Amino acid sequence: MPDRSDRPSVAFVGLGNMGTPMSVRLVGAGYAVTGFDLSQDARAAVAAAGARTAETAADAVRGADVVILMLPSSTVVEAVLGDPTVADALAEGSTVVDMSSSDPLSTRRLAAGLGSRGVTLVDAPVSGGVKGAERGKLTIMVGGAEDDVERLSALLETMGTVRRAGPVGAGHALKAINNLLSATHLLATAEGVLAGERFGLDPAVMVELINASSGRSGSTDNKFPNFVLPGTYDSGFGMKLMVKDMRIAVDLAQELGVASPLSGSAVEIWERAVEELPDTADHTEIARWTFERTADRKLVTG
Ligand code: NAD
Repeated sequence: MPDRSDRPSVAFVGLGNMGTPMSVRLVGAGYAVTGFDLSQDARAAVAAAGARTAETAADAVRGADVVILMLPSSTVVEAVLGDPTVADALAEGSTVVDMSSSDPLSTRRLAAGLGSRGVTLVDAPVSGGVKGAERGKLTIMVGGAEDDVERLSALLETMGTVRRAGPVGAGHALKAINNLLSATHLLATAEGVLAGERFGLDPAVMVELINASSGRSGSTDNKFPNFVLPGTYDSGFGMKLMVKDMRIAVDLAQELGVASPLSGSAVEIWERAVEELPDTADHTEIARWTFERTADRKLVTG
């Protein structure tokens, strides 16, 4: 049994596709983890891996040195941290680590509010998907003061590689921009593969050769070979969550006075797909939707 004496106690709120494997890795590394999720099934899954579980978010965070959040959005993060029972239970001197893909402007506001009560906020969103979470191979983009990040580094390294992005909010800004690029690549790849197939190219050959050329991306390297070409569309990252991230990035650019005509068009197309597909659609379904929706239509009509 690993020695727990020198490790901070951890509350983990949000035990979904990502939060479950991430919290399970912490348990495996010897951290005392108390998990909370609205879903009873999610709580049962982490309890089976050796975590304690709580019936409310306030009970989970009470007395914890570090509170990790892995929630869908800033709206939910704000609701959890704004709940007066949670606010009362957060110990002075504790650190909240928001690993969700949140809105950086909301994160800055929350950091200021928590700071006035002696609670530190660090943002540490991740890239690498469910597989990366299971293997402890996430890229963790951390925003926060250097000594706060340093204090958390051993704990975070249980889940992946720590990369400092800058001050608080920087991780969330970087993550949203990363996902805007990733989603735009995925859509462009679907359009390109569809046109190539119409020309008579084999999609698998296209992806293989693009991966040896300058058009390669996470979409050609990972998403097409693993989820699109086999037709499984099951990466474990929901389409609605991807569109939320794209919106954060495009809105942030607008707020900062930066025009984003290309990515602005991409997010509008993704938003149409969200409207037409079931709530549970995986984000890789954007490729199937593109194939089906555009297959027999001339989009450029002049
Ligand atoms: P998910 O929908 O699978 O999990 C979210 C969990 O939060 C659910 O179990 C839900 O019950 C829980 N929840 C919602 N409201 C709650 C509340 N008020 N209190 C407690 N629990 C609550 O989502 P996910 O895929 O695990 O993603 C979580 C975050 O990580 C999102 O911000 C997402 O954008 C980001 N992310 C996801 C991936 C991925 O591949 N899935 C990769 C990188 C980042």
